[in-house]
Amino acid sequence: MPNSPRAAAQPPPSPEPLRVPVADSHTHLDMQDTTVEEAVARAASVGVDTLVQVGCDLERSRWAAETAAAHASVHAAVALHPNEAPRLEAEGGPGALDAALDGIAELAALPQVLAVGETGLDHFRTGDEGRAAQQRSFRAHIELAKRLGKALVIHDRDAHADVLRVLAEEGAPERTVFHCYSGDAEMAEVCASHGWFMSFAGNVTFKNAQPLRDALAVAPPELVLVETDAPFLTPSPYRGRPNAPYLVPVTLRAMAEVKGMTEDALAEHVAANTARAFGY
Ligand SMILES: [Zn+2]
Ligand SMILES: [Zn+2]
Repeated sequence: MPNSPRAAAQPPPSPEPLRVPVADSHTHLDMQDTTVEEAVARAASVGVDTLVQVGCDLERSRWAAETAAAHASVHAAVALHPNEAPRLEAEGGPGALDAALDGIAELAALPQVLAVGETGLDHFRTGDEGRAAQQRSFRAHIELAKRLGKALVIHDRDAHADVLRVLAEEGAPERTVFHCYSGDAEMAEVCASHGWFMSFAGNVTFKNAQPLRDALAVAPPELVLVETDAPFLTPSPYRGRPNAPYLVPVTLRAMAEVKGMTEDALAEHVAANTARAFGY
């Protein structure tokens, strides 16, 4: 029944392996339907040899740190997601947000935790009433990344101008990554001028994503990363089916086409860039 919803939701097949291994710079294994062992092994079988596991609240950040400690090829990033911070403050007041931030600070100091994030601003899911808490949390995460010398992973949804403003006001950490980069070519020039990394996800393959491909086209190869943000943003032609780190090659190949580079040349850049961005 190839057209049944069940068939449509089945995991896509494994792509042809990459010859030059790269990292999935941003994934959420805790939201995927497989064990960590299965996800790591399947990714490795297609040349995705390193994963950055991102926690979105205190509990899942703790899980990310534990998972990274248990698997040599998995690194952790910890934070309160931009939509989690306002939720905490709405439910428990500013004290609840502060307590969670203290917990994140403790986890961020662990050696297997290479980044603080994903943090930033999300004007799509958080309304006006949550903006102040979201911004306060973003500023606290920036300060933490700088204090600990860790990378900063930014989530920016419909909030480009405000994200750039807060970064300018606080001063960005030495290593800053825009995860699921969603700006246009003009913003890519701004990121490039600061040496900020731009991590592209499966949506760069979507038909309606020409502005994103225009941004990728002008992004310096030295600052480009690839990610799945799995289980979200499954690349074409598998939209609607579950995403996982083993699908990185599908996105990387589409990116190489946009850059007019060979798959191997782009993969070499991406592998080196990700190691530099996260410091492993
Ligand atoms: Zn995000
Ligand atoms: Zn994410």
